[in-house]
Amino acid sequence: MNYQYDYIIVGSGLFGSIFAYECMRKKKKVLIVERRNHIGGNIYCELKDNIYIHKYGAHIFHTSNKKVWDYINTFVEFNHYINSPVANYKGEIYNLPFNMNTFSKMWGISTPEQAAEKIAKQRAVITKEPQNLEEQAISLVGMDIYNKLIKGYTEKQWGRDCRELPAFIIKRLPVRYTYDNNYFNDRYQGIPIGGYNLIIEKMINNCEIILNDDFNLKKEYYKKLAPKIIYTGAIDAYFNYALGKLEYRGLRFETERLEIENYQGIAVMNFTEREIPYTRIIEHKHFDFGTQPVTYITKEYPCEWQEGQEAYYPVNDVKNQALYKEYEKLARKEENVIFGGRLAEYKYYDMDKVIESALETCQRELN
Ligand SMILES: Cc1cc2nc3c(=O)[nH]c(=O)nc-3n(C[C@H](O)[C@H](O)[C@H](O)COP(=O)(O)OP(=O)(O)OC[C@H]3O[C@@H](n4cnc5c(N)ncnc54)[C@H](O)[C@@H]3O)c2cc1C
Repeated sequence: MNYQYDYIIVGSGLFGSIFAYECMRKKKKVLIVERRNHIGGNIYCELKDNIYIHKYGAHIFHTSNKKVWDYINTFVEFNHYINSPVANYKGEIYNLPFNMNTFSKMWGISTPEQAAEKIAKQRAVITKEPQNLEEQAISLVGMDIYNKLIKGYTEKQWGRDCRELPAFIIKRLPVRYTYDNNYFNDRYQGIPIGGYNLIIEKMINNCEIILNDDFNLKKEYYKKLAPKIIYTGAIDAYFNYALGKLEYRGLRFETERLEIENYQGIAVMNFTEREIPYTRIIEHKHFDFGTQPVTYITKEYPCEWQEGQEAYYPVNDVKNQALYKEYEKLARKEENVIFGGRLAEYKYYDMDKVIESALETCQRELN
């Protein structure tokens, strides 16, 4: 059969774009089909007043994988942004992740020994196996940190009281006995200078792209155009939900333009009291050290995910994982389709891990 393309790539997120770029390097002909009206998937940013707005949630690149770091740096340079969010509890500001700055503010102490003593004393109130998330959190970090920094935030995230949530949700809570506010432990970190879109644009610059088209609605047509498909959409949607629907946790974003230069002085502020309905405010310009006269903020509201909404976080429970495994079996039988990326693998993937996985797929497929 004479095909027009070597590959049809479904989705122009990081996974699809890397595959497309590596195909071009091997002189393969590809067609990218994208459902949205823009390229880039969830790392897409909108540029307004010269400020990059992370439209699908704040994205901070971080990795310890030198190969991935070197690869992504062939497309863009990264700035020196280090994620050091703060928690706002009723107007009191605490550093995150929990570290000596947090403990010093919480208890007026100054040494690691004093902090460890305080936490050990507060943890000791839980004497039996924790029965719910509240007991689990107290058994890990003590009452004060739980009450001010964990309780309200977690209850908003899950829409339920911490006493009604299972203990296993929080397996460990990292506590640092150093004055270190860097949220990530990774070796490399930053925000792309010139924005995330630049990465994707450089990757798929020379590819044919169709926007605003859902592959699954024209599957038979597209399959005739190439002998192989790279599919980065939702796995259940590919099979027309034959075994049922996989569930996600939802997020709602409310973005505002403010006629002031600086709203909160930091890119990420978590709101840890339950009475405030959103969990975080992102002030986008601070990712890029912006000095524009205006600013954009986005309030993040956790919500129940409804069909048709953007799918953000897969639900990692037994029921959904079992259903995914069934879809995975069907996927293995689709000989000419490679399933990759966060939606097709029903998995929370950081960007560096998606890059790693896409490069491994290219290695297997294109060499
Ligand atoms: C709120 C949030 C915050 C995050 N923050 C970070 C962070 O700080 N650091 C980090 O490393 N990672 C972060 N991530 C993870 C990051 O977004 C992912 O690693 C990355 O976007 C995954 O790329 P992908 O190509 O697999 O998927 P996507 O970016 O989702 O791309 C898939 C593409 O396929 C398209 N598509 C789907 N179905 C079809 C169809 N039927 N037909 C045509 N096109 C289709 C979609 O429109 C989309 O463009 C975050 C994720 C979320 C949800």
